[in-house]
Amino acid sequence: MKKKNILKALSALLLAALMLFTVSCADTSVDKPTEAPKDTEAPTAEAPTEAPVTPMEEILAALGSLEFGEIKNVILYIGDGMGMNHVPATDAITGGRYDGKLAFEYLPVFGTVDVLCTEGEPDSASGGTALATGYKSKRKFIAQNSKGEDVKTVVELAKELGKSAGVITSESIVDATPATFSVHAPNRNDESVIAGLQIETSVADFIMGGGKAMYDKLFDEHPEYKDKLAENNVTYVTSWEDVLSFDGSGRLIATMTDDYWEVDAEMTPTLAEMTEQSIKMLSGNDKGFFLMVEGGAMDEIAHNADIMELTRHMVAFDKAIEVGLRYAYENKDTVIIVTADHNTGGLLPKEEADSYIAKNEKTSPYIAQEEWCLTNAKLHCLYEAEKIAQEKNPDVDWNTLPYRFTTIAHTSDKVNVWAVGPGTESLTEAKLKCFQIGKLIGNLLGGEDFGSADKNGVK
Ligand SMILES: [Zn+2]
Repeated sequence: MKKKNILKALSALLLAALMLFTVSCADTSVDKPTEAPKDTEAPTAEAPTEAPVTPMEEILAALGSLEFGEIKNVILYIGDGMGMNHVPATDAITGGRYDGKLAFEYLPVFGTVDVLCTEGEPDSASGGTALATGYKSKRKFIAQNSKGEDVKTVVELAKELGKSAGVITSESIVDATPATFSVHAPNRNDESVIAGLQIETSVADFIMGGGKAMYDKLFDEHPEYKDKLAENNVTYVTSWEDVLSFDGSGRLIATMTDDYWEVDAEMTPTLAEMTEQSIKMLSGNDKGFFLMVEGGAMDEIAHNADIMELTRHMVAFDKAIEVGLRYAYENKDTVIIVTADHNTGGLLPKEEADSYIAKNEKTSPYIAQEEWCLTNAKLHCLYEAEKIAQEKNPDVDWNTLPYRFTTIAHTSDKVNVWAVGPGTESLTEAKLKCFQIGKLIGNLLGGEDFGSADKNGVK
């Protein structure tokens, strides 16, 4: 019996040991999944090859309290025709990008701009000139004051100060806005003249966007301009690959689509990619740089009353702004300003737009001529444009959209400005005029007396 008892005791011990072993094994297997992520996280965080990338949400939250050093660079973003309702319409239709908003809505400085830097309705020539030179201008004038005299642009100022300067757009580069930052001319409609001047007289380190057809026309009609490229140390390319392999010697002119990028989804490169490459090309200069980025195609889209495509271009514009914001956050030496040259399309909340249109319908005769629509923005032209836009977006129920255009033309309505960086607080001032933004950019770049000396932007 004793032996039996001993055996019993031994087997009990063995069982207990076995149970302990099983429990400890079980514990280990339970612990493993919770420990595993710690093990895998640690080496990834310490991996020397991966630079830490601050999430955009964190950058946007920090914009209001960024401590800037000496300002060397200014990036100006122009939404062509971006009226006050372009932003809430984009938020409502696309759902926004960061908590229902676009990234640039988080910029700490926000103001309202009177775009009447000309007599009558502003266009991209007079509006662009005001932003590029700090002077009031006239319709069709390119970097000329209201008397038709050439006035210095922020691009020319930047180059004088030893900085680098670039101009990029989703429009044709000979269109009014990029033209006002690159040449001086009396008429925005002389696009061949503008292309020729961009080759011969522009000082911008690069001008990139669309407009290949206009350059083709210049080279066809005036073959001597092909020789003028080399004479003026200009590299002219028509593909993104050639932009990426540009060696940086002399100036670069790139036209990567015939006119403008109509469909955002088909844009190669994207405006954000172009912005990223531009900053790479400009930021090597220790003295700093000026960059103008235009969401240019959105003006054409608003003239076509295509609200769906407009919101896609707005998102693309926002992605390009995000590239600049990240650079400003990381370097603390760059001011970012986002604004518009005028309002295209008079976008209003749907109900307001419907009642405005109903009221104006009686005074708007029907004349079915496309040419006539281009110069006389009557309501039937809007209806025609809306019909085409609806056909392009067959899945969208147009009646449920929260915003609607009220014209296919420009309006004199005020626009907004957003900014981050020292000195931009002045943009919140009441009665801010568009030419004052141009003056501020010149001042920020180091041009103390830049722009008009007159409070009306004339002298
Ligand atoms: Zn326009």
